[in-house]
Amino acid sequence: MELWFTEKHTDHVRFSIQVDRQLYSGQSEFQRIDIFDSPEFGRFLTLDGYMMLTEKDEFIYHEMIVHVPMAVHPAAKKVLVIGGGDGGAVRELTRYPGIEQIDLVEIDPQVVDVCKKYLPQTAGKLDDRRVRIFYEDGLKYVRAEEDAYDLIIVDSTDPFGPGEGLFTREFYGNCFKALKADGLMVNQHESPFYPVDAEAMQRAHKRIVESFPISRVYQAHIPTYPSGHWLFGFASKKYHPVRDFDPQAWLALGLKTRYYNPKLHVGAFALPNYVNALLEEEEKG
Ligand code: SAM
Repeated sequence: MELWFTEKHTDHVRFSIQVDRQLYSGQSEFQRIDIFDSPEFGRFLTLDGYMMLTEKDEFIYHEMIVHVPMAVHPAAKKVLVIGGGDGGAVRELTRYPGIEQIDLVEIDPQVVDVCKKYLPQTAGKLDDRRVRIFYEDGLKYVRAEEDAYDLIIVDSTDPFGPGEGLFTREFYGNCFKALKADGLMVNQHESPFYPVDAEAMQRAHKRIVESFPISRVYQAHIPTYPSGHWLFGFASKKYHPVRDFDPQAWLALGLKTRYYNPKLHVGAFALPNYVNALLEEEEKG
């Protein structure tokens, strides 16, 4: 007998992964949480049936959402992660000795508990002494913060269900306010390829452009996300993601990475023409 996990990527496209067994299934106050084990991708986490991460390709997403901004900000000490209860972004952040405080704001405690039990590869650093976990809606949390963080990482689910508020103008405006004068924000920015994802991406881009003076988009190849082509947003009060990037300073840290490197950092901001066109539509207003 063959078991398969299938996610609908569009009305006409499905993506399937063969599964050895289901390790966990539960319904929290916010969403359905499942963990599967698979021969090709190892263990993987889905929320409401949508792929969040697999052991095999999570390094790409987490390295790109953390090392790109960390290599641009010259001295990030206080970092806020919104969402990200799997701990992957936190794991990458804990590798920087200069970071003094990592606040993780995750709406669903059950995601954290399940990831600690079944996905130690990502959740293994949530007990680092610099990490504080707040079980709260990220939208509410940032309303109360001002001039507090060097970097905000929005590691959210998609713009429906509990993640919807994390794609609003109000949220981005409050992130701007929560950042210090040279602070920056990165977010998972959806995919440009299928129209349903591209629309969400364009909406988010328009709102970020209206909220931050510098707003750029970069890309990575993530095999288990729809189309495999994924974008990240880089929004900043002061630093430009390429002109203010100091490759030597980052290399001097001696961090070993499997995906990210300084050449790729620069290249990731060079987008295909059709993606630039989608973004420019929003920038013109
Ligand atoms: N990398 C993943 C992706 O793009 O598919 C996202 C990973 S992470 C598991 C997303 C987390 O955001 C989930 O654990 C979810 O509970 C959390 N989340 C969703 N809405 C939230 C909100 N409003 N405030 C804080 N956390 C939220």
